[in-house]
Amino acid sequence: MEKEEIQKIASRCLSCKTKPCRKGCPLTNDITEFIKCIKEEKYREAYEILLDTTILQPICGRICPHKKQCQGACIRGIKGEAVDIGTLETFIGDMAIENNWPIKKIYKEYRNKKIAIIGGGPAGITASAYLARRGFSVKIFEKHSKIGGLLVHGIPDFRLPRKVIKETMQKVIDLGIEISTNQELGVNLKLEDLEKEYDAILLCFGANISSKMNIEGENLDRCIWRK
Ligand code: SF4
Repeated sequence: MEKEEIQKIASRCLSCKTKPCRKGCPLTNDITEFIKCIKEEKYREAYEILLDTTILQPICGRICPHKKQCQGACIRGIKGEAVDIGTLETFIGDMAIENNWPIKKIYKEYRNKKIAIIGGGPAGITASAYLARRGFSVKIFEKHSKIGGLLVHGIPDFRLPRKVIKETMQKVIDLGIEISTNQELGVNLKLEDLEKEYDAILLCFGANISSKMNIEGENLDRCIWRK
């Protein structure tokens, strides 16, 4: 989307002091402040504000149920249309990828602690990034051949382009996170072995079994179900 259109969307934000949109966000993104930065054309600052609470901006911007969350809580929505927060978040996330803005490390000293993360989906990826930012040594164990979890296996490309997932994941990997794929807990990976090597283990395997409609033909090729 062009900057003029983004400015038009951002200009509808009232910079509410009470930040109801932030309260509506499960990650507590500081929406008021990042939109304020967009209005002032401080795009990099907007990215840094979002980075405090989310590393998945271009993904969350596209797939979060904004109308039930931040946008659903937006004051503008009471007498008309809420501010289109999802589009603004996507714009900043995409801009960060295009400009190679990294996820900055925020530690002063490296911490001599090793963390194993089981599961390379959104939860595992997010946890790894925030631990690595703070100086922990992190390794993700993923059961599939690539990380991404539900984002890759549960959301079709037309809704969330694979390129966006790949580039977002790469920024996390660039923090120095190790990744070991085709590793499934209870199959070729044992908790007791990990406990000997790691200071902490975080279990982030997830909810990746989709619900079925139980109708004829739902498993056919090219049959895509949208909620
Ligand atoms: S509630 Fe809506 S108008 Fe108010 S700060 Fe948040 S996005 Fe802007």
